Amino acid sequence: MSALVGHEWALQLLLNGWRAGRVSHATLILGPPNIGKTTLARVFAQALQCTAPTPTPCGVCSSCRRVITGNHPDVRILDTPGETIRIDQVRELQQELALLPYEGRWRVAILSEFERATPEAANALLKTLEEPPSYVALLLTANHIDRLLPTIVSRCQLLWLRPLTISQVQQALISQWGVEPSLAELLAHLSGGRIGWAVSTFQDREALARREESLEQISNLLGQSRVYRLAYAAALSRNPKLLEETLMLWSSWWHDILLLKSGTQVPLCNIDQTEHLHEQAQHVTLDQARRMLEQVEFVIQCLEQNVNARLAIEVLLLSWPRLEG
Ligand SMILES: [Zn+2]
Repeated sequence: MSALVGHEWALQLLLNGWRAGRVSHATLILGPPNIGKTTLARVFAQALQCTAPTPTPCGVCSSCRRVITGNHPDVRILDTPGETIRIDQVRELQQELALLPYEGRWRVAILSEFERATPEAANALLKTLEEPPSYVALLLTANHIDRLLPTIVSRCQLLWLRPLTISQVQQALISQWGVEPSLAELLAHLSGGRIGWAVSTFQDREALARREESLEQISNLLGQSRVYRLAYAAALSRNPKLLEETLMLWSSWWHDILLLKSGTQVPLCNIDQTEHLHEQAQHVTLDQARRMLEQVEFVIQCLEQNVNARLAIEVLLLSWPRLEG
C-alpha cells in the first residue's frame, strides 16, 4: 500500500519544514498500528527524492517509482513487522548513511516500529541521532512511545497520527482500492479507522471467512465447559495470526455489547451483526460486558510483551460467564 490517506496535513507539515530550510534530521511518527505511519514516511521519502518540478511526489518519475519498489539507492526502508531490529542492521544502515547520496540531495532511512529494536540496536542508533550527516533524513515509526528509550524520543521531532474517520476509510477503499460499497462500509467500521488493516483484510480473501468462524465461536464458547474452552485456547495459541485476529474481534465484540448495554448512540463496529449483538446483550450485564472487554484488552497488552499466549487465553476464556444456550 502506498497511497497516503487522511494524513496529508502531516506530509505538508514535513514538507513545509523542509522547504523553509528547517530540515529535521530525525522524525518519530507515532500512533496506533496500521493507520499509515510507514506509508507517510515512504511518501515523504518520495517527495524528497522526486525529480518532477512540483514539490509533492509525482508518483511517476523514475525516483518516485524506485522508492515505491524499494530500489532507490538513497532510500533505505527497514519494515519487517514482528521481527526484532538487531544491532548489525543498525550498523549496516549507519555505514550507508555515512556515504554521500548517489543521486539526489538526501539520504532517507525509514525504520518501522522502532520499539522492535533491541536495547543495543537502539543505543547504536543514538550516535546517528546525535550527529546526523547534513544530508540525512531519518524517519522512525512506533506504536508505543513508552517502549522507546527516552534518549531516542528526545532527539526526534515528534509527529502524532490519529486513526482516520470511518468515512475516510470507506471512501478511500472505494475510490483507491475499488472495493464494492457495502463491503467498504463493513471494513471501514471493523477497522476502527485503521486504513492499513482495512486494506490488508480486503486483500486477504480468507480474512472475512475466518472472522465468520470466530464470530460463531463467541456464542459457542459462552455455552461451553472448561474442558472445551481450554482445548480452544490451546488450539488458538498455536496460530499467532488467527490469535491476533480473534483477540481484535473479541475486543470489538465486547465493545459493541458494552455500547448496547449502556445505550449510547455511538455506531457499532460489527455492523453486520446487529441482531446477534442485540440478542447476546440480553444475556449479559453491563458489568460483565465491561469486564470482558477489559480482560481482552489486558491480554492483548500482555501478548505484546511476550507473555505465554496459551496461559493468557486460558485465563481469559475461563473468566467468561457460562450462558445457557
Ligand atoms: Zn516523482
